[in-house]
Amino acid sequence: MKSIAIDGPAGAGKSTIAKGVAKNIGFIYVDTGALYRSIGYFVQLNGKDPKDPEQVVPLLDGIKIELKYENGVQKVYLNGEDVSEKIRTPQLSMYASNVSAIPKVREFLFDLQRNLAKTQNVIMDGRDIGTVVLPDADIKIFLTASVEERARRRYKELAEKDESVRYEDVLEEMKQRDYNDMHRDIAPLRQADDALLVDTTENNLEESIEILTKIVKERL
Ligand code: C5P
Repeated sequence: MKSIAIDGPAGAGKSTIAKGVAKNIGFIYVDTGALYRSIGYFVQLNGKDPKDPEQVVPLLDGIKIELKYENGVQKVYLNGEDVSEKIRTPQLSMYASNVSAIPKVREFLFDLQRNLAKTQNVIMDGRDIGTVVLPDADIKIFLTASVEERARRRYKELAEKDESVRYEDVLEEMKQRDYNDMHRDIAPLRQADDALLVDTTENNLEESIEILTKIVKERL
């Protein structure tokens, strides 16, 4: 099986770009952020503090997460419920970022991610795919863009659904999440030594998908 690891900060376009590349080369796209978001969602449902391991870890026993593919689109099921749409809120981004710093949470999701790559050709995106989850991936890419550009993209996306969103708040949240993700003790976000750095600040999504598809085809 072949695997491609794509890591990088929030808003770099990882999921849309990885999805596009996966389609072009016939691989399965795995969005690992959705797994952390689902755990964040469960913690929120239970009214617990996502930063406190003593409140979060006991909940793990009551969580069953499954990834299913419907028409090639990833769906995430939490205890049998499709939560794929629900987990895409700014509040759950922060919940995900907070629970993801808890080692037992990362351990809990590790086998699920590993096993997917054992049975299928995958393009998997996240924060620690090239460094921890798939250290032997065939291709590793670290995808990034300036924080202002990433916040602009996220703002545009959110403002379509909610007019009261402010760019300054989105930028602040983005910086906070970058800081959390890069400074946690376990599996912090960093470029793997053998990963190729791709900066998409100056490229739109179509261009980025094209650039990455070319890189991947050359290297596979
Ligand atoms: O990619 P996405 O923005 O959906 O991820 C939400 C959060 O989940 C990230 O900010 C990060 O803290 C965490 N995450 C992680 N490791 C991954 C994927 C996501 O820690 N492989």
